[in-house]
Amino acid sequence: KRLKIEVKETPKLSNYKYSQVPYSKVCSIFQEIESTSSRLSIIKICSDFFTEIVGEDPQNLIPTTYLFINKLGPDYEPGMELGLGEGLLMKTISESCGKSLAQVKNRYKEMGDLGQIAMEARNVQPTMFKPKPLTVGEVFVNLRAIANAQGKDSQTKKIKLIKRMLTACQGVEAKFLIRSLESKLRIGLAEKTVLISLSKALLKHERGEGEPSDEAVTMAEERIRDAFCQVPNYEIVINVCLQYGISQLQNHCKLRPGIPLKPMLAKPTKAITEVLDRFHGQVFVSEYKYDGERAQVHLLPDGTMRIYSRNGENMTERYPEIDIRDFLVDTSSTHSLIIDCEAVAWDKVNNKILPFQVLSTRKRKDVEAKDIKVRVCLFAFDLLCHNGEPLINQTLRERQDTLQRVTKPVDDEFRYATRLITSNTEELQHFLDQSVKDCCEGLMVKMVDGQESHYEPSKRSRNWLKLKKDYLNGVGDSLDLCVLGAYYGRGKRTGTYGGFLLGCYNQDTGEYETCCKIGTGFSEELLQQLYEKLKPTATDGPMAFYVFDSSAQPDVWFEPTLLFEVLAADLSLSPIYKAGSSHYDKGISLRFPRFLRIREDKPVEEATSSEQVVDLYEAQAHLS
Ligand code: ATP
Repeated sequence: KRLKIEVKETPKLSNYKYSQVPYSKVCSIFQEIESTSSRLSIIKICSDFFTEIVGEDPQNLIPTTYLFINKLGPDYEPGMELGLGEGLLMKTISESCGKSLAQVKNRYKEMGDLGQIAMEARNVQPTMFKPKPLTVGEVFVNLRAIANAQGKDSQTKKIKLIKRMLTACQGVEAKFLIRSLESKLRIGLAEKTVLISLSKALLKHERGEGEPSDEAVTMAEERIRDAFCQVPNYEIVINVCLQYGISQLQNHCKLRPGIPLKPMLAKPTKAITEVLDRFHGQVFVSEYKYDGERAQVHLLPDGTMRIYSRNGENMTERYPEIDIRDFLVDTSSTHSLIIDCEAVAWDKVNNKILPFQVLSTRKRKDVEAKDIKVRVCLFAFDLLCHNGEPLINQTLRERQDTLQRVTKPVDDEFRYATRLITSNTEELQHFLDQSVKDCCEGLMVKMVDGQESHYEPSKRSRNWLKLKKDYLNGVGDSLDLCVLGAYYGRGKRTGTYGGFLLGCYNQDTGEYETCCKIGTGFSEELLQQLYEKLKPTATDGPMAFYVFDSSAQPDVWFEPTLLFEVLAADLSLSPIYKAGSSHYDKGISLRFPRFLRIREDKPVEEATSSEQVVDLYEAQAHLS
């Protein structure tokens, strides 16, 4: 039985209001996941639950999926962030669960989990009437209303909505409701696991009876993941599956202007010889690797333009001076497109690129064209869609030809990435050196022809290699690691943290695996700032989803909130660190790690993955 749904647009929120799945069911599943460590068991728990609720009403799946991934909608749409502050939540818990604010605060100091506190308070609170049980539809719609509340009455409105839900909470519901409001579900459920479980449930729903084979599940998973990388919107992907079937995703769920696709990423390399080995006998192009911000520029058929960041965030208002139509050869024959570019700070007088630090001084919000002091030039390197037609399955040569046919460079504003096709080592070395002189990070080297040159959304592909000049002597690239804990400082560093325990993210398990202790590269001033920033995130013990060795425990544990970009001399197997320990008996750790900067622009789940750490380690073994 297929639903008739208009899949071109994001369906209206009101569709989900009616999802009657009891919220208590979702919460008891969360509770079960929280106490389960095996990933396969978690997938089974989730997919059985999704199968059950999709059978009752397919529309249940969308709000439920969002509750599972702890999001309210696609990342690229505004007003989808919760992350309410603890002050507001403590006040609300105290007012609706019969505790004084001081009691809530004290308890919070002791245990550091507001969800747990709300649950305990709620469960000993006498109630006159048994409240009407919460449904998924109601919770989801209320969460969105809370996230969207704006203006001077917004606090009051938020508190009112939370109170209304809290007073209806029973059992473990208050715990997970509060954690969802904080945007920290903390049950060790990775989004990738939810996607796999969802694929399994959708396939079962489609097939009707019986367990699908592992092969069929893997294929469904791949199709759904591919569709999601092009259209990162669960509503659209799920609705297309329900309406047309999973096998039809590729025909009905294609990238389109107005929805940022997940960008293709590159693998690090440490030497020109490594690049030559990889692309041996094939044509490859080397392009300058500009050091700015990725800008995926969309022109929509209605003439509007949007610029999205690497993480799919809408940054259009940051660049009021840019109008993509100025760079088109013919506005009447090109009505929509998506161009992959890097936005770089530009010195108009001297006609040259400025360092990244200059770009980062530009305001992020409410930017007025007249106030702009730092100019930006877009360096285009790919064309992903033209007049509604996705080009990602064309060769890079074809895409770049079309790019140059339909757009034109405009001095100081829009240029093509500087490129060179050669496999001559000296020429490459010279081009690499020149890129650095021209204020770039090094080179991006890409396959030009054949299927391997297709654009692979969201993949860190071997068909794109990065060659960063600064990292050639280290492991080939910097790593973005999550701060899991800290060590108290001694001597000059007394009163702040003197070192930190860092970890990478295992995308399969949703766990953070420790990979080094770091104490180098910090100024005293920075340590003070970090102390103030991290102290409020301290917990009374490690999170359940931290993988560490008992002999390498920090003095203080934190919730995962911050990434450090870190440089290392090399990687080695370690008896006490755990990165990649599901691949090897031992974990991998960084030797001589050095702090570079805080990565404010990446959410913690975008930390360097365990798989990347293993790749870097293996690439190093291969070279020696
Ligand atoms: P990660 O560390 O996760 O790979 P990152 O944000 O640190 O991500 P890099 O992998 O170092 O980025 O480099 C990829 C980025 O380089 C792209 O996201 C893009 O913004 C930028 N870039 C600059 N020039 C080019 C180019 N010619 N082709 C592709 N990307 C380019």
